[in-house]
Amino acid sequence: DKMVDKRILSILSNEGIRQSDTIELIASENFASDAVMQLSGSIFTNKYAEGYPGKRYYNGCENADDIEQLAIDTLCELFGSKFANVQPHSGANANLAVFKAFLKPGDKVLGMDLASGGHLSHGSSANLSGQWFDAHSYGVNDEGLLDYDAIMDQALDLQPKMIVAGASAYPRQIDWEKFRHIADQVGALLLVDMAHYSGLIAGGVYDNPIDYADVVTSTTHKTLRGPRGGVILWNDEAFTKKINSAIFPGTQGGPLMHIIAAKAQCFIEASTDDFMFYANDVVTNSQAMCDVFNERGMPVLTDGTDSHIILMDLSKSKYSGREAADLLEENGITVNKNGIPNDPRSFVETSGIRIGTAAETTRGHDREWFVRLAHRICDILS
Ligand code: PLP
Repeated sequence: DKMVDKRILSILSNEGIRQSDTIELIASENFASDAVMQLSGSIFTNKYAEGYPGKRYYNGCENADDIEQLAIDTLCELFGSKFANVQPHSGANANLAVFKAFLKPGDKVLGMDLASGGHLSHGSSANLSGQWFDAHSYGVNDEGLLDYDAIMDQALDLQPKMIVAGASAYPRQIDWEKFRHIADQVGALLLVDMAHYSGLIAGGVYDNPIDYADVVTSTTHKTLRGPRGGVILWNDEAFTKKINSAIFPGTQGGPLMHIIAAKAQCFIEASTDDFMFYANDVVTNSQAMCDVFNERGMPVLTDGTDSHIILMDLSKSKYSGREAADLLEENGITVNKNGIPNDPRSFVETSGIRIGTAAETTRGHDREWFVRLAHRICDILS
């Protein structure tokens, strides 16, 4: 566009070329619809609307109220929850607000270890969640699977105030009911962060945590295919004031109304039959890739996947995770390096890569295409 600064236009155009010329297998990424993109850049960016629908601190919020209420209602219906907050600017912000709502600094938290597939905001020492709270972590066993008995023992020993379930790099179904049981045994609050799986849950191909967790958080831009952002869901009315005030004024200022408009569109899109087919294809495609990797002697952790995520185990490969990711990038395929359990290589090198099928499935590629892609990856890495 003529109005955009030339340098910005050139960078944008380069990114356009990068996105269209490469195969996108980063598990946390996706391609939002044109409607979501347009709403993200819409006139709602001009509006300040501190507060919540019907209770704003500014005048002129009637349309902001309508769009936020529509987003809340559609989101609640999509996941079967009673209450929701659609204002978190990101997934990390959603988690931060839940920590603030239910914990005091120094309280004990038990979350999944970053190195085993957890997220920074679940209590990592590099993050405020691990610095201001007494954060402890559980990992996975040698096969890369969650060991619920071991987590139970840890929880009984620790007596945490909150347990965080959910992951950034765990390919299998997480047993939410088992986490509920563990939380009940120690009287802990259960936070489920479904960021990676929320699109699959909306599409009915991954178990919904809403009936097991006290609070659920998510991003909106991964498998859910919306704008970048976060959400919080819950069923207990007694939490409403705590959670809403932890977002505003607790940790955020004015909501991003343009992003909330795009979130509403995303939730409407995720409620369609087409999205159910999409979610189903995402998992079919990742399972098809796993089959090829196993056949070709390129092992994947847990021997397969129940989601969009595949963790390739490169501990016996001449390439580290970092080298493999760079080599694939040179060949037009974007993935990220990932640690594996008992990783023989350093944190920087790692012995795994994480592959995700959500983005390329959005582009309409089918199982056959993913099978060919998996063979190509094996060829490159051997
Ligand atoms: N939670 C999980 C499980 C994630 O994987 C991520 C992002 O990768 C986040 C939270 C953070 O989301 P954001 O990058 O929007 O802060």
